Amino acid sequence: MSRIGILTCSNVTQDLGCSSINCLADFKKRGGEFEVYSNDEDLTLVGIINCPGCPTLTGPDKLIKRIRALTEFQVDAIHFTYCIKVLCPFKEKYKSALEQTFPDIKIVVGTHKSALTPEAFREKIKGLFNQEQKTMVDVILKKA
Ligand code: SF4
Repeated sequence: MSRIGILTCSNVTQDLGCSSINCLADFKKRGGEFEVYSNDEDLTLVGIINCPGCPTLTGPDKLIKRIRALTEFQVDAIHFTYCIKVLCPFKEKYKSALEQTFPDIKIVVGTHKSALTPEAFREKIKGLFNQEQKTMVDVILKKA
């Protein structure tokens, strides 16, 4: 039996509204990076938490505190989502910091598989972030 936690990217969950639906689908089907777990093995999803946001000056310290939401509950492995794998410039630093801090927990980079190439996926996400979006500024200036 393996107990799994999932770390998601805040940019994707908070700003772009991803509910981790593809990660959960492959978790259930043992697809993507979950293929390593055999179908006979019980797989428990302990929890999902988003990263604390891009780290600026704090480095991985904020993440190490935040990931306690998973590490305190006997996880065997923490999977970084596909979005982190393809989009996050800090993933290697995060992985090393977590491996050093929690040597008994396996850190896996990836969750679901994708029909898109990483490059195509990145372009799509970039397109979403670059959409024109009205804000409160537009309301205040009576442009919305
Ligand atoms: S640090 Fe990485 S995972 Fe977290 S919000 Fe930034 S890009 Fe996403």
